[in-house]
Amino acid sequence: MSAAPATHFDKVLIANRGEIAVRIVRALRELGIRTAAIYSDADRRGLPVLLSDEAHRIGPAPSRESYLKGEAIVELAVAIGADAIHPGYGFLAERADFARQVEEAGLRLIGPPSSAIAAMGSKLESRRLMLEAGVPVVPGGDSALADLDQATALAESIGYPLMLKASAGGGGKGMRLVREPDELKAAYRATRSEAAASFGDDAIYIEKYVDRPRHVEIQVLADQHGKVVSLGERECSLQRRHQKVVEEAPSPVVSPELRARMGEAAVRAAQAVGYTNAGTVEFLLDAAGEFYFLEMNTRLQVEHPVTEMVTGLDIVRWQIAIAQGEPLAPELDAVEPVGHAIELRLYAEDPFHNFVPSPGRIERLRLPEGPGVRNDCGVYEGADVSIHYDPMLGKMIVWGRDRGEALRRLRRALEETRIEGIRTNLPLYRALLDDDDFRAGNLDIAMLDRKLAAGDLRPAQASENADLPLLAAALEHSLRTSRAAAAPSPEGGRRGHWREAGRREALRGTRWS
Ligand code: ADP
Repeated sequence: MSAAPATHFDKVLIANRGEIAVRIVRALRELGIRTAAIYSDADRRGLPVLLSDEAHRIGPAPSRESYLKGEAIVELAVAIGADAIHPGYGFLAERADFARQVEEAGLRLIGPPSSAIAAMGSKLESRRLMLEAGVPVVPGGDSALADLDQATALAESIGYPLMLKASAGGGGKGMRLVREPDELKAAYRATRSEAAASFGDDAIYIEKYVDRPRHVEIQVLADQHGKVVSLGERECSLQRRHQKVVEEAPSPVVSPELRARMGEAAVRAAQAVGYTNAGTVEFLLDAAGEFYFLEMNTRLQVEHPVTEMVTGLDIVRWQIAIAQGEPLAPELDAVEPVGHAIELRLYAEDPFHNFVPSPGRIERLRLPEGPGVRNDCGVYEGADVSIHYDPMLGKMIVWGRDRGEALRRLRRALEETRIEGIRTNLPLYRALLDDDDFRAGNLDIAMLDRKLAAGDLRPAQASENADLPLLAAALEHSLRTSRAAAAPSPEGGRRGHWREAGRREALRGTRWS
């Protein structure tokens, strides 16, 4: 690997929007680097625009006419004198061709080399590379299936149930579960034609189906001088339709010994593709404690803050340092998690109506504060949530000395939170906090879907009604204090003063219900 010469960025363009653009602006500002935001017409008054040193319109609202216009974004970066581009996640972040354009323009990408993105972009190619590197992969075929006969023979030797997967698939698409031999023929044809139609590549292969696994992923950092380190795992098993909703670090079931083995495997995975910068190696972990490589995400992850909370490290800052050519510090050699962090993804969607997106104006926004609470939020009170983009508003992250304290803090943080004007998935989280399996850390990737389908997890009251118990308490309290005022208080006046202040505070809260 040839390390690019060390440099210091003066200005960085952020090729993204929403909470992750805000996160990146914050890291850059702390380093004294100038920030250039881009925005579509829908995001003219977006938080990244308000917080950046400069902001540039990139096009109309639809992403393909704005945030996905790689060439125009590279041209803009050159024109404004930026040294580097941070792609965030989504949009252009895992596009090898975009990374190549950035490299060819003489700019730096705050991310991996285009060759590593390309190698990990193909499921079959990455499986082959991982096998070579001694990283465990899900048992299955190692090349594209030639025909149905070959698929049948291979399926017999692997055993059912199994998965048929498109090599070029992604985002949970191009996969099919095949439970029995009878289903194979139809599934083979359907997966193959879907692969050709959706991804322009009909290469499909077979993988064993891992029953009720956990999703456990390892955060790695790799510098341009050949050093790769693991920052430990994140547990991301709570998913709705293969999309993560709650993430935590560390995993409730990963021992220090398993952490070390998974970390070593993840480091080997990164080394196998000449990886640099921050990346995540995703594994399925089965009930027996065996883990299998799933894929590598060649970018910053949504859930990176839980790792930051338990390691005290700033991952985005390290991304920038690595892109500037700095070596990883010795303090990163043996990072151990301290305490426990949990992240909730806040979505503008209606949990009572099949989670349909709920765009609109945020009329009221009160986010939790206090010890151990962090909000990575891309919106503000009065902002509009657009129909054009992913409905994630931001993330709420809590830290506690252990998982029990983190859960208690999460409950307290949710009680403080009010979001009005749009529907959000907060009621789902309130219900989840009462769920015995979640509280005990008994998780698997299908658990949330199973519970929602069975009606075991009824999203509690809507957030706009959540102040009702508070209102009742305030009224009762008010009655009690007026009765107490009639009689002399044995505790003296001071306590009464605080009670009065508390009552006013409680009543203020109810105005937003
Ligand atoms: P994508 O690239 O589309 O995200 P992945 O290969 O990462 O596809 O798989 C997405 C999800 O599908 C995983 O998080 C897991 O929930 C499930 N999954 C994938 N492969 C298997 C498997 N072999 N056995 C069981 N579940 C699987």
